Amino acid sequence: MSTLDSTVVAITGASSGIGAATARELAARGAAVVLGARRTDRLDETVARIRAEGGRAEMVAVDVTRRADLERLVARAVDAYGRLDALVSNAGIARIAPMTELDLDDWDAMIDVNLRGVLHGIAAALPVFRRQGRGHFVTTVSTSGLKIVPTQAVYAGTKNAVRTLLEALRQESTDGVVRTTSISPGYVRTELVDYVDDPEQRAQAQQTMATLGIGPDAVARAIAFAIEQPDDVEIGDITIRPARQG
Ligand code: NDP
Repeated sequence: MSTLDSTVVAITGASSGIGAATARELAARGAAVVLGARRTDRLDETVARIRAEGGRAEMVAVDVTRRADLERLVARAVDAYGRLDALVSNAGIARIAPMTELDLDDWDAMIDVNLRGVLHGIAAALPVFRRQGRGHFVTTVSTSGLKIVPTQAVYAGTKNAVRTLLEALRQESTDGVVRTTSISPGYVRTELVDYVDDPEQRAQAQQTMATLGIGPDAVARAIAFAIEQPDDVEIGDITIRPARQG
């Protein structure tokens, strides 16, 4: 028996980085995983790899900015495995720029993915969790929300908004049915900053990631730790950063 043999977990942003590593880690510990993201070719690869290693995995094309996609993700877990024990809301984007540049499109995009996307997941899974009498929201926030620095204002704002709503949900759920966990990673070597528009900012961020970042498997292990606790134990917050990060 593995620790998560009877656990069903859906993961958004599972096509790369922390989400893909989390899917592999949880599946290796026995969980059935349902992967969601927009790049379905990448999801297919991870699902095939998990199955080849004897694990259980399904995938769904998910754009977290669309409510209906989250409903389909949750429904797939319930249809395939009979229930959903945890939703890892991990999909996220980071656009780095000083506020004076007024990149309103980037602000909107971060709000839509990082904040609205998490709310869509909560809306889809909460009725299932309450019906089951158990469920766990695990969400990837960021140390950007803990140590506030220039150029990350809106990104950090979306992450701290999520931190706030999970704490409120926790306080509304003291009947023990719903658990919430905020995972705050520091620099992790992923594709996150590859989509920053400004070439100079992008190169600098990629360089920091490459030299300082920890592997996404480290965050995956932290997520697994939170999920595998007994139902009466709630890990509220985990901060996990490179030992050399300031
Ligand atoms: P990646 O860029 O490797 O992964 C981001 C994931 O989010 C991808 O799977 C991507 O999938 C998905 N995603 C983006 N937009 C959408 C969307 N609209 N709908 C569905 N999925 C979407 O970066 P990370 O693994 O680093 O990022 C994972 C999380 O960790 C994010 O929330 C990020 O903010 C957070 N984080 C990362 C840190 C780091 O240093 N790497 C530090 C702190 C927090 P696809 O494009 O296929 O849809």
